[in-house]
Amino acid sequence: MLDIQKIRADFPILNEEVNGKPLVYFDNAATSQTPQVVIDAIVEYYSKYNANIHRGVHTLSQVATDAYEQARLKVQKHFNAKKSYEVILTAGTTHSINIVATGFTALLKEGDEIIVSALEHHSNIVPWQMLCERVGAVLKVIPFNEAGELQMDVYDTLLSDKTKLVFTNHISNALGTINPIKEIIDKAHAVGAAVLIDGAQACPHIKPDVQELDVDFYVASAHKLCGPTGVGLLYGKEEWLNKLPPYQGGGEMIETVTFEKTTYAGLPHKFEAGTPNICGGIAFGVALDYMNGIGFDKIGAYEQELLDYGTEQLSQIEGLRIYGTSKNKASVISFNIGDIHPFDIGSILDKLGVAVRTGHHCAQPIMNTYGIPGTVRASFSFYNTKEEIDVLVAAVKKAQMMLS
Ligand SMILES: *Cc1c(COP(=O)(O)O)cnc(C)c1O
Repeated sequence: MLDIQKIRADFPILNEEVNGKPLVYFDNAATSQTPQVVIDAIVEYYSKYNANIHRGVHTLSQVATDAYEQARLKVQKHFNAKKSYEVILTAGTTHSINIVATGFTALLKEGDEIIVSALEHHSNIVPWQMLCERVGAVLKVIPFNEAGELQMDVYDTLLSDKTKLVFTNHISNALGTINPIKEIIDKAHAVGAAVLIDGAQACPHIKPDVQELDVDFYVASAHKLCGPTGVGLLYGKEEWLNKLPPYQGGGEMIETVTFEKTTYAGLPHKFEAGTPNICGGIAFGVALDYMNGIGFDKIGAYEQELLDYGTEQLSQIEGLRIYGTSKNKASVISFNIGDIHPFDIGSILDKLGVAVRTGHHCAQPIMNTYGIPGTVRASFSFYNTKEEIDVLVAAVKKAQMMLS
């Protein structure tokens, strides 16, 4: 069992008050909070060894380089990548997807097909649409059912020898659905297509194993994993990363430069042009250590308890509808009450100290399918409690009373 009070003491922000009320932070699917060890790592970097990496002979540069490369090894170990150079440290999920989507411009031709799930975040839709426009490829969509689950029988009919790429999120940020990614990957491979999995929403809850999944690309952001913003992961199989051209040109990503011809550096530097988020990368490693110290099995089991409790309590509110009712679900509850606008509910919750997200959650196609403008989304993390869920439920009831 987790010692929640001890865990909560690691997060200074959880002692804050908002609008004169104790903060109840249920916007974890947008970004997670930061434990003191990660804050300390950031302070230590800037107080003790801030220096540019990979280039300097001086001591601080070497210390910073070692710490940064150490972080890459921690990311490698966490995701179980075969090689450390299959781990590209990026600015986050969006950046990682753009590296791959832009790179595939060189690998696709007119008439090729790309399959996407209808449960995607805009950052896993728009870069692929831009790719399709550049090369004349066709985007096909796997629809979802009323419960928010992908219709795998339709997926089967979309796959063909024209399919070159399949991409989906591992867990939907808007509905919490855990997608059957192993099946999606295996079926794509059977027709020779590559697969990118957007793990931004899964990584806070699950420890993915990229070799076991046999996935071609897996992407995530540190800031949803107790790390800082502006840093993330692009995992790619070595063969794929070698096939893709570089994304940005600049320092760090070259081997030799003359005005006639530049040759590129090998992996991972080929995709890491310019000075990276050094401090952020180091803090990402510390955040992974912190979460692994607690243990993803325990985190997952406890969050499931919170999800079950929250679902049961919120369901008792008259007129409240939960969107996303898959049996395989992460601790995200998206809901509406009657035709009250989600924004109005969110604003009242905020006055009561409860932070939730309202709107389309960067997933407008999902909202269009349900025919709603958006939802109120409460997303729970391992540092949340049932007592906080009680505060949420009371606040939702109050909002309902005031608005209807
Ligand atoms: C948060 C999120 C993203 C975008 O991540 P950034 O850190 O903003 O780049 C993409 N996909 C999913 C599923 C997300 O939850």
